[in-house]
Amino acid sequence: MARDRSLALDYSGQELADLPPQSWTVLRARFDRWFADEAEARGALILPKTSVEKVLVEGGRTVGVVAGGDELRADVVIACDGVLSLTAEQAGLHTPLTSSHYAVGIKEVIALDAQRIEDRFALDGAAGAARLYVGVVTEGLFGGGFLYTNRDSVSLGLVVGLDALGASQALRDVPALLDAFKARPEIAPLLKGGQTAEYAAHLIPEGGLEGLLPFWGEGILVAGDAAGLALNLGVTVRGMEYALASGYYAAQAVMAARKAGDFSASSLAVYGRLLEESFVMKDFRTFREAPRIVANPRFFNTYPELMGDILREIYAVGPGPKERLFPAVRRHLPWSGLWPLLKDLREGAKL
Ligand SMILES: Cc1cc2nc3c(=O)[nH]c(=O)nc-3n(C[C@H](O)[C@H](O)[C@H](O)COP(=O)(O)OP(=O)(O)OC[C@H]3O[C@@H](n4cnc5c(N)ncnc54)[C@H](O)[C@@H]3O)c2cc1C
Repeated sequence: MARDRSLALDYSGQELADLPPQSWTVLRARFDRWFADEAEARGALILPKTSVEKVLVEGGRTVGVVAGGDELRADVVIACDGVLSLTAEQAGLHTPLTSSHYAVGIKEVIALDAQRIEDRFALDGAAGAARLYVGVVTEGLFGGGFLYTNRDSVSLGLVVGLDALGASQALRDVPALLDAFKARPEIAPLLKGGQTAEYAAHLIPEGGLEGLLPFWGEGILVAGDAAGLALNLGVTVRGMEYALASGYYAAQAVMAARKAGDFSASSLAVYGRLLEESFVMKDFRTFREAPRIVANPRFFNTYPELMGDILREIYAVGPGPKERLFPAVRRHLPWSGLWPLLKDLREGAKL
């Protein structure tokens, strides 16, 4: 997406519907409630609207928490309180991270009639659309926009690297950026008649392998965003599945520790092994270079503008005869521009 133009790449088709289910959108307000009910039905005790205020540590070992003023003692505490986990930090599981390891995400859920969504996005039945935007949508800063359809709402938002945001003189106001995104001619007609139903902002861990916290300690395990388990590959931001999977493996580790009657760090280390053997750590190792590669400023500035310039050359019709396409394209890609492009392609090949 550039200032007054955009280029779209669309991947759609029946082959997606014929594959095993690939992707879902969930509204957390509904999903989390359903998930909590499922856990409760299996014996979990849930204390809603109650914060963990303090972690109880005795002799270097986590022995429980204080929540709602009550002391709750436990064999193991699982810190799953999301990004910037105070629970993990108080338990002493801290990795010195900087703003480069985080992005800020801002999202609106816009209620819209289901039929309008189907018509505007050419959808049928339970199928949905997911779109990512890069370029001027973040004023050229590291990050991007996203839009995806739900059954009777559309989720629209932006993610901006915290480091890039801090360094930018021009951009300070992320909500204003979201308003500008909504007003874009590519977006506004899709949302017409919709009503904002939810508005939220949140940090996202984006440090990759380098941004992970220690996963376990004496009497404590760390899961999900609290452990830094979210991965931005530029084309996807994945955190939900790592949160679910790490929660599952944390439970496996606690069950194994209970069986052994040993909740020491060495017994809980099985959690680390389970994560290493699973897709979770395999993904983080495969994409260890991703945070560095996707933060390349040229992806958010130079290339969206370049693509716009090239396409204008290709499609614009002037009064005279049409020039050959290749020289017109090369005008925007001088030798001096080819070198960084080749370098970026080489870097991209590491993903
Ligand atoms: C704008 C945005 C878009 C995203 N898009 C995607 C996407 O498309 N796909 C994807 O897979 N992931 C996405 N993510 C990432 C995903 O939301 C997270 O990775 C995921 O929610 C992590 O789950 P979690 O349970 O670890 O943490 P959270 O979902 O943050 O849950 C932590 C919970 O702990 C609670 N809590 C915090 N502190 C305390 C305390 N002291 N006491 C008690 N409770 C506490 C919080 O209230 C919260 O309910 C996105 C994130 C953002 C911000």
